[in-house]
Amino acid sequence: MIWDTLTSGQLAQVDKNIPVLLPLAATEQHGPHLPIATDRLIGEHFAKMLNMEINDSILILPAVSIGCSDHHIEFPGTLSLKHTTFLTVVKDIIASVFHHGFYKIILFNSHGGNQGIGQVILEQLGNEYPKAHFVTVTWWVLARESLEKITETGVGGTGHACEFETSLIQLIAPELVHTGLIQKGANAPTFTWAEGDMLHGAKASYYRNMKTMTSNGIFGNPFAASAEKGKRITTCVIDSLKQVVSDLTSIQK
Ligand SMILES: [Zn+2]
Repeated sequence: MIWDTLTSGQLAQVDKNIPVLLPLAATEQHGPHLPIATDRLIGEHFAKMLNMEINDSILILPAVSIGCSDHHIEFPGTLSLKHTTFLTVVKDIIASVFHHGFYKIILFNSHGGNQGIGQVILEQLGNEYPKAHFVTVTWWVLARESLEKITETGVGGTGHACEFETSLIQLIAPELVHTGLIQKGANAPTFTWAEGDMLHGAKASYYRNMKTMTSNGIFGNPFAASAEKGKRITTCVIDSLKQVVSDLTSIQK
């Protein structure tokens, strides 16, 4: 079910055992070829597909469209919330959800810059609402095992406006992809211990803003993208998410 398409009366009738999913996204540059809304479009796409596949046995909240993107701010069009603002926004939304009696929450993230604060939010909410159930999940981490079978670009091929994100926007909103402007990411190498991508976690975090990390705003190789690959990525992510939802649903109050 989609939270804001229901009437207030319909929402009051929904079983409070149902998991409630909040998409956490971003509004930021995605290279010369993808729209600024990329992370929101991807998060909402997965949420809607999941809802369809499991026959409305989840409640999808409106996305938090602006995330923590200070590291992208040098690129035109990027909007950003400070970590403390983002934390307050997410926690206030969840407090409203609790007010209506729901107590199983999935924070579904589609932006790398929300991962650190997402963990802090999870720990704070868990301590403040000990009887509730919280999950934070980032799609490419959740589905990593099956996504490894899809990628064709090796270490450094997936990251930002990359093989995966470009494939997904080609599937979701092909009219928003500027195919002629696709370039390989200008990934600037640093140290072996600091190198990583969506599928290969770095051994240590070495801070660089996006402009330093990649001058064209792309990290990875979008030339390997296709809408067909976007479909396969979607299947991997939805299958993994279904397991999370089913496990959360089975928890008795
Ligand atoms: Zn993105």
